[in-house]
Amino acid sequence: MKIHEYQAKELFRQYDVPVPEGKAAVTVDQAVEIAGGLGGYPVVVKAQIHAGGRGKGGGVKLAKSQEEAREHAEAILGMNLVTPQTGPEGRLVQKLLVEAGQDIREELYLSLLVDRDSARVVIMTCREGGMDIEEVAERSPEKIIKVAVDPLLGLQGYHLRELIFGLDLPKEVQKSFAGLVRNLFTLFVEKDCSLVEINPLIITGGDEVLALDAKVDIDSNALFRHKDILSYRDTDEEDPLEVEASEFNLNYINLDGNVGNIVNGAGLAMATMDIIKKAGAEPANFMDVGGGATAEMVENGLRIILRDEKVKAVLINIFGGILRCDVFAEGVVQAAKSVGLNIPVVVRMEGTNVEEGRRILAESGLNLLTAVDLKDAAEKIAAAVK
Ligand code: ADP
Ligand code: MG
Repeated sequence: MKIHEYQAKELFRQYDVPVPEGKAAVTVDQAVEIAGGLGGYPVVVKAQIHAGGRGKGGGVKLAKSQEEAREHAEAILGMNLVTPQTGPEGRLVQKLLVEAGQDIREELYLSLLVDRDSARVVIMTCREGGMDIEEVAERSPEKIIKVAVDPLLGLQGYHLRELIFGLDLPKEVQKSFAGLVRNLFTLFVEKDCSLVEINPLIITGGDEVLALDAKVDIDSNALFRHKDILSYRDTDEEDPLEVEASEFNLNYINLDGNVGNIVNGAGLAMATMDIIKKAGAEPANFMDVGGGATAEMVENGLRIILRDEKVKAVLINIFGGILRCDVFAEGVVQAAKSVGLNIPVVVRMEGTNVEEGRRILAESGLNLLTAVDLKDAAEKIAAAVK
């Protein structure tokens, strides 16, 4: 799960990771009031959306006075912010973070992430941080220092020394950098993060080390043990169909194509997307109703897919194991009756009670195309959208 910068900074404060003073606002007046309480100007007004690159898109602005703070808040709040990470459609800004402007001497990069290859938490850092880190990574990857931490040993002094010497950090800031990395590592593990990224991590004119930006992703599978973080969820930042699907416990991801598909089991869903592509069509979504789905879940899943306007045909691919084919067929019939089917639907079904399932579909009076196998299903669906 993604969270906002201001929420990530709240977590940082809990773990003694230094951040600038600041608060979130949802109105211009609120933003101006927060600016006035920060003990002087400049202050920085920052758009809060679940995407980076805001500075480049005009979503981060420095204000040298109360009037400027108001101007920037008015401009940014409600704007459609387009950044290299939002895609061309952009994102509506509904919240701001107003924080104390910092005297930046240097911008560094620091991140922690779970590296699947080594099955370890990897700490990455670079002396040349800031808004062009992607370029640095491309042009001179040797400037990025990486340290992998063994989960049994935990973070050790030598890891920190490797980072500090690799960065060639000035003596005055070594101790505070080490403390910051230690605290961040604890946060990462205790809060089940999948990513923590600080870009930039700054060294101020007064030799302070501070997280100026904060990106934190939490492993969604661990949210059950982090009720505090669950309250950080901002459904305004999520795809409305995905939000609805998550309420029904459906694993649904919206994609760009026009073939909707509904499958039981994530592996089968991946394979189904592959065959759709192989047949020359593009999947409009990933929808796994789960191995133990009920008729009601199938109905909800199909209803969500049919609400997606780009969907021109639907492929239903079910292997009846725990979810029996007859139960599944009932779900399809219910859904079709409640939403009305006006696009082609291809059904491929195998497994427990398949005969009964086929009978229910055949007697439903619905206009469904049946496929004999996976290849046949893919060809029929590709023909349907051509
Ligand atoms: P993004 O990565 O989305 O562009 P950042 O939070 O990294 O957003 O901000 C972009 C840039 O704005 C930073 O690299 C920094 O130069 C400047 N900036 C951000 N916050 C502050 C602040 N509190 N004080 C001074 N400059 C800031
Ligand atoms: Mg940044």
